[in-house]
Amino acid sequence: MKPSVLIVGGGAMGVASAYWLTKMGRSVVILDRGDVPNSAASSGDHVRAFQLTHGKDAFYTDLAAKALPLWLSLNEEAGEKLLHQNGMLELAVKDGGFEDQSYRILKEMNIRAERMDKPEIRRHHPMVNVRALRFALFHHDGGYIWAMRTVAVLSHLAQKKGAQIKLHTEAADVLTDKDGVRGVRDKHGKVWQAENYLFAAGPWSGALLKRWRLPLKVTRQEQMHLMPPTNRGRYRPEHFPVFAARSAGIYGFPIHIHGFMKVSTYVMGPPGFPGADGATKVNPRFERKCRAFLKKFIPDLAEFTEMEGKVCCSATTPDGDFIMDRLPDAPNGFVAAGFSTTGMKFAPLVGKTMAELIVGGRSEINLHRFRIHRFRGR
Ligand SMILES: Cc1cc2nc3c(=O)[nH]c(=O)nc-3n(C[C@H](O)[C@H](O)[C@H](O)COP(=O)(O)OP(=O)(O)OC[C@H]3O[C@@H](n4cnc5c(N)ncnc54)[C@H](O)[C@@H]3O)c2cc1C
Repeated sequence: MKPSVLIVGGGAMGVASAYWLTKMGRSVVILDRGDVPNSAASSGDHVRAFQLTHGKDAFYTDLAAKALPLWLSLNEEAGEKLLHQNGMLELAVKDGGFEDQSYRILKEMNIRAERMDKPEIRRHHPMVNVRALRFALFHHDGGYIWAMRTVAVLSHLAQKKGAQIKLHTEAADVLTDKDGVRGVRDKHGKVWQAENYLFAAGPWSGALLKRWRLPLKVTRQEQMHLMPPTNRGRYRPEHFPVFAARSAGIYGFPIHIHGFMKVSTYVMGPPGFPGADGATKVNPRFERKCRAFLKKFIPDLAEFTEMEGKVCCSATTPDGDFIMDRLPDAPNGFVAAGFSTTGMKFAPLVGKTMAELIVGGRSEINLHRFRIHRFRGR
């Protein structure tokens, strides 16, 4: 018998959708070209940041606030902290910028946040160089997500409810007819059929869904794992939050694994594709950028000697909004893609939304910014 839903892609969005679909009593098969979790995927790193700040864009703050209770109940169901809330500290170099705009929105939404002045920052985080700052915004609900662990847990919970995962099974072609999607042909020629299809192939989505011409830009996003050269204990998550400086385009994490912290960038990297030549190597320029950032804001850390680079690819739409929609001319085909470098924190909400859309044709959250028709005429 055909499964109710075939999901292509076992990254965060695919497995979160499988989790919710199986909760709703649907039978699910997931195809993934690699392993689940997969370190080559966008979800393929140890940690991702959870923050509720989006400058003046209240829409995404509201989405993150809606995702939060789903994370907390997932923590409970999993019996472990997939979302670790040790707070998020945003370092502001001027008044009236991203941090002030975020602070205003957080306050309007009654989300606990503090605008810290320099003496207060010094008191709580003496390692931060307050001379480089105007103020800092701290919000308590922020923190970090164990990203690959989340994929592992969600896929396990979905499997417990009957989902099947077919590893190393790459979808090569989407077959359509006048009624919509008729099947998915894998690389070996096998055709997989279901009542409905969800395409959640991360950076590979554009290539797989080429007939729908989704305007996704795939970029290489560099990250640096580094060991604090001194005073390691003070960078443990009990003492040090996730941190960010929008002015520098950089954010980072406390020590989380084997004594390593992590620094990453908000700035879109050069075009690149997972698996392409040199795709996993960090450019020395990025290391220099990280050191310059740390020298300015957290000088203790700038002289790190132990480090490891990692590159993940991300897919971004021209307006930066995600794609969560039914495929045009294919009423039984759905897509969840374009989650850029901010999507992981929404994963349980994306999964719930896609499951609602597939099962009931509508979702609790407003999808107007995620529709495909916004690209029409481009
Ligand atoms: C460097 C970096 C830093 C980030 N930092 C943050 C952060 O701090 N906070 C945050 O909230 N978000 C962050 N993000 C964003 C977040 O990680 C991604 O938005 C999210 O992981 C996307 O998940 P996905 O399931 O859409 O894609 P992926 O995780 O890429 O999953 C896609 C899956 O599809 C499979 N697949 C692809 N093609 C096929 C095919 N043809 N057949 C079968 N299987 C296929 C792949 O193997 C993969 O497993 C970051 C992203 C990057 C790249």
